[in-house]
Amino acid sequence: MILRKIFIFVGFVLLLGCGGQGADQPATDVNPFFVEYDTPFNVQPFDRIDEAHFVPAFEEAMARQNTEISAIVDDPEPPTFDNTIVALDQSGELLVEVSRVFFALSGSNTNDELQGIQKEIAPRLAAHKDEIQLNPGLFARVKTVYDERESLDLDAEQLFLVENLYDRYVRNGALLSDEEQTRLKEINQRLSALRVEFSSNLLAETNAFKLVVEDEADLAGLPPGVVETAAGTAQREGIENAWVFTTHKPSILPFLTYAENRDLREQLFTAYTIRGNQENEYDNKAIMAEIVNLRVEKAQLLGYETFAHYTLEPRMAGTPEGVYGLLDQLWAASLPVARREVAEMQTIIDSEGGGFELAPWDWWFYAEKVRKAKYDLDDNELRPYFELNNVRDGVFYVANQLYGLTFEELTDMPKPHPDAQVFEVFEADGSHAAVIYMDYHPRASKRGGAWCGRFRSQNRSAGVEVDPVINLVCNFTTATEDTPALLSLDEVETLFHEFGHALDGILADVTYRTGVRSPDFGELPSQIMEHWAMAPEVMKVYATHYQTGEPIPDELIAKIEKSSTFNQGFIQVEYLAASLLDMAYHTLTEPTELDINAFEKAYFDEIGLIDEIVSRYRTTYFAHITGGYAAGYYGYIWSGVLDHDAFAAFEETSLFDQETANRFRTEILEVTGSKDYMDMWVAFRGREPEIGPLLRNLGLQ
Ligand SMILES: [Zn+2]
Repeated sequence: MILRKIFIFVGFVLLLGCGGQGADQPATDVNPFFVEYDTPFNVQPFDRIDEAHFVPAFEEAMARQNTEISAIVDDPEPPTFDNTIVALDQSGELLVEVSRVFFALSGSNTNDELQGIQKEIAPRLAAHKDEIQLNPGLFARVKTVYDERESLDLDAEQLFLVENLYDRYVRNGALLSDEEQTRLKEINQRLSALRVEFSSNLLAETNAFKLVVEDEADLAGLPPGVVETAAGTAQREGIENAWVFTTHKPSILPFLTYAENRDLREQLFTAYTIRGNQENEYDNKAIMAEIVNLRVEKAQLLGYETFAHYTLEPRMAGTPEGVYGLLDQLWAASLPVARREVAEMQTIIDSEGGGFELAPWDWWFYAEKVRKAKYDLDDNELRPYFELNNVRDGVFYVANQLYGLTFEELTDMPKPHPDAQVFEVFEADGSHAAVIYMDYHPRASKRGGAWCGRFRSQNRSAGVEVDPVINLVCNFTTATEDTPALLSLDEVETLFHEFGHALDGILADVTYRTGVRSPDFGELPSQIMEHWAMAPEVMKVYATHYQTGEPIPDELIAKIEKSSTFNQGFIQVEYLAASLLDMAYHTLTEPTELDINAFEKAYFDEIGLIDEIVSRYRTTYFAHITGGYAAGYYGYIWSGVLDHDAFAAFEETSLFDQETANRFRTEILEVTGSKDYMDMWVAFRGREPEIGPLLRNLGLQ
């Protein structure tokens, strides 16, 4: 699951020719970022951009924004909404334009040169941002407008923008004394150094352990593909006649699921769970303790009771009480289900004469046996019904049924990579809505996973409507000589998921470029689409056999539906334990001498975590909470509550109920980032979120 980033929105293209780039110079000398694009829909001219253009474009873009900021600060007129807030919102257009292209290509079509540029440019971009954020003259003007905001006759969106910009400054320390600001800077710098140290330790620990299997008998149970990969790993490591397994997820998970050798499962699992906790040079305990304590100090410096209070303030959850209100209910519902799962697996162990009690390293192995016996869902049986273009048309079908959108493939377009498909998106009345690039398959220059970014975000900050340009990137199964690309069930869900992020961008209807991001809300637009993907009526439309054209049989649909509750006790308890641990650290009210192992143990005892399950992350490898997910790991399940509850609004009416769809569009998708998130939700659902639908759908009730 990828939490979407809402970057600062980009405006229309710049036509300025400064920097001496005259229009009459030969085309090869012209940096394409500095001239009119002259492309369909004004999309970025990917075919004319090369690596050498980026650094000069970044430099020019930062210089332009600095000029824009100086003009705001030095304006002799008193601060107004237009000359300060809107001017700030509009500043840095070229920087956003260049950044969008650069970071998109760094993710999906990178090379050594781009990686080198990234290393060079990342700290410069961070410093540039800091300079704007810490500019006292700029803050003084923002504050004046903020203080006068009630008398300025602003509409709701304008008021939200003023408060949002002001809060950003305050949360970064703008109201502190010089001395306090100096301390805050020290804390921030120390925190970022500790974060880097933590993750490099973790990487070293993850790479250090190798389970070397030399006796073929120890491979019993493993599928051929897994064995082959392990042989390849051994070869790369220069180990002859052996198979190597590691604590990297793609290696450890199949081993725990299929390996019959219990001792080896224990060895590998233990190696995974003690990473960063081995009293060696890579130990992360002291680092995390320092991070936690510095955050308490930072929160208190800024006037908050705890770091969680500080972090949660702009988010939908709002307060630690809000988060606990959800997590505690889910925890109580999930623990008994996990205990039932333990009992079910223990029965299998006993019936096989195992003579031992289920341990954490046994869970995947026996859960797989339960899965086979009870659900028997074979991916290879499903794939013929999930031909890529059929699934894509299914996604388009849902977007059409809900919002009236239609799609037309564009063939003659500049593309970020030749493999991408490009579509023009139309509104129901035939008007242009957006351009979307869809880039489906893995290649060496692409990072793993799936995500949906934007080359341009909708806005009209400068008085001109800017239409969105969306970039959806996946790593799906490729076609073979004999078959087209046939997706797995997971990949089908992923395509619908990422397209939900795309719809959030396509249907956006906001004025300003600066939005607020709330990770606990950000997965609602995407995760709700997964419900339509799996709805039997929709499956019957798109899941047709690629050879016979027959729709997917009812019995397969029934198996898919049933499997959605498989192992949910484990999945939730494992995840919630980590979420609660994250909250426990970040609701400390004063710096303390933290013994990490003792703290963890006491906390998990207190909440009643069962012995058969280890928290999804233990402290010493919980990298999420060293960075942006601090007091935020709960966000995945918060979004989950929202998507189940939002989809229930369609279940209560009908799958494509127009009134409900219209409300989801206008109250959620159109206004994302420009309103308070709880207000958006209540406007759509008529009440605060409820966890009932999630509990029902996951079989936790
Ligand atoms: Zn997502």
